[in-house]
Amino acid sequence: LQLGLQRGDRLVVSAEGSDAAALLQALQGVMTRLTAQEQTDAALAAQKAQAQRSENNWQPPGHPLEVAGISASPGLAIGQVHVLTHGLPAIPDHPLALAEAGDKLHAALADTRAELAKLAEDTAQRLGNAEAAIFKAQAELLSDTDLITLSCQLMVEGHGVAWSWHQAVERLADRLAALGNQLLAARAADLRDVGRRVLGKIDPSLQATTLSDLPDNCILLASDLSPSDTAGLDTNKVIGLATAQGGPTSHTAILARTLGLPALVAGGPGLLGVANGTAAILDGQAGRLYLNPGEADLKSARDWMAQQQLRKEREEAERSLPAQTRDGHSVEVAANVNRPDQVAAAIAAGAEGVGLMRTEFLFLERDDSPDEEEQFATYQAMLQALEGRPLIVRTLDIGGDKQVPYLNLPHEENPFLGMRGARLLLRRRDLLEPQLRALYRAARGGQPLSIMFPMITSLKEITRLKGLCEGIRRELNAPVVPIGIMVEVPAAATLADKLAEHVDFFSIGTNDLTQYALAIDRQHPELAAEADSLHPAVLRLIHQTVQGAAQHGRWVGVCGGIAGDPFGAALLTGLGVNELSMSPRDIASVKARLRGSDFAKLADLAQQALDCDSAEEVRALQSLLS
Ligand code: PEP
Ligand code: MG
Repeated sequence: LQLGLQRGDRLVVSAEGSDAAALLQALQGVMTRLTAQEQTDAALAAQKAQAQRSENNWQPPGHPLEVAGISASPGLAIGQVHVLTHGLPAIPDHPLALAEAGDKLHAALADTRAELAKLAEDTAQRLGNAEAAIFKAQAELLSDTDLITLSCQLMVEGHGVAWSWHQAVERLADRLAALGNQLLAARAADLRDVGRRVLGKIDPSLQATTLSDLPDNCILLASDLSPSDTAGLDTNKVIGLATAQGGPTSHTAILARTLGLPALVAGGPGLLGVANGTAAILDGQAGRLYLNPGEADLKSARDWMAQQQLRKEREEAERSLPAQTRDGHSVEVAANVNRPDQVAAAIAAGAEGVGLMRTEFLFLERDDSPDEEEQFATYQAMLQALEGRPLIVRTLDIGGDKQVPYLNLPHEENPFLGMRGARLLLRRRDLLEPQLRALYRAARGGQPLSIMFPMITSLKEITRLKGLCEGIRRELNAPVVPIGIMVEVPAAATLADKLAEHVDFFSIGTNDLTQYALAIDRQHPELAAEADSLHPAVLRLIHQTVQGAAQHGRWVGVCGGIAGDPFGAALLTGLGVNELSMSPRDIASVKARLRGSDFAKLADLAQQALDCDSAEEVRALQSLLS
């Protein structure tokens, strides 16, 4: 944190001593593995943001006075503002004998750790493991040697325990906040939060008690809210949040989203000048707080909320019905699921099967590859959980953004253009063969299993991979299973008519197809937002893939993020895609969109989209769908 590292920075780590090499390797493993998970989370968040952008927003008809911030958690809230004047009491400076002071700080830190462990446990039960991790990370801050050293130095200089601790926290938090990085500034808020907890343990009169006695139906305005405050909010009373500082990636914002509380951040200091009790409407989606709204604004907001609620209930109620358009055209809707324990929830969300199991996730977050037996057990468990519904397993897609440290693959300057997916599998039989053996053994159970290869660029790759499959299948006396490929490289899309002859199905990976077609790194901090899969260039590649597949009677699916965007799903259906595979939480709204549409109209709309010259123009077509 204190190095102010940003994404993509290169870090040199050195160590000495007899176990230096092993330690360095372990540390490098921790660092790169964390990145893999974080990048996946970031990609999912970006997809979600893209989907949200395409939704219609509420607009107040009467143009009331507004405070603008950044969207942190969607939804509307109508209530009265309550301004939280945080402010700690003045911290007294009462020096103690050094040994006594040391003991006191030690005891306060131990108490706080225990309190955070309890909070993490409660939060895990109430909100989930990811949210609980916030408090585990806060507990780590308590072991920061700089923090402890600075506090002790100040005590040695003759200052009191509470004063020294508070100074140390403030100085380190200021340092983090001054690095000019939104992520690190958010960690400064974590440090202050945990610092306040320790203060309350050193001296109970310094306990922050600001969140008691909140009025009902209040939109809470604060300079910044700590994660502990947010997790502990009484959602029977607080219906929305707006902070003057903070960023959309802060833990406060994450918690607000999990709690389903509409929220905005970075509203500026003006927020705190609003009088307590002022009537307001908070629009978390747009990141706006409207003050003293008129009757028309209130009525429109209430109507909008009621409509959203109704829409959600309707979608939820119909999630298990087939995705059949009003004029009788059906599309299969499947889920992207990686683990057997997630299957039941996906089926409950309306999934008709699993359209993409990303098996590289079985290889991440661990120190060695799962062997054939372990993989066999996992695939078998997936099939069992699916109870006869289809499962498409994608073989390892390592490389690009998904690096596995223990495989010791050579460093590449452009990993997305390098040894990725099928290219790697063909060179690393030690990875491919156990996986294929495990898959064919699982197929012997007779349930519907398909194998899919990622990052295919040429027919040569398909021929070699199919040859290996057939060899293993015969050896194991296993049944023939459908073999398909991901279409995620423009070369595969443009050659679809040639490739279709040799495979049973295509599944289009629009996340990668978009990045390769538009030459935009899907994780680029500034450009990724422009990598819109509804860009007409990408749609034309999809169109070409569908046409190529049709020449040989093959079916085409889409398993990239755009399949879970209701408008995207409508266009893909119009283009003739047969299957859509998505995150389970997107299924209800995609099915609702398709069930409310006419295929003839979608086909017409898709033709118009192919004729557009930008993604914006394509998205504007949304207004033509009722
Ligand atoms: C894709 O590229 O769209 C895809 C589904 O694969 P992944 O996101 O795992 O690269
Ligand atoms: Mg991909």
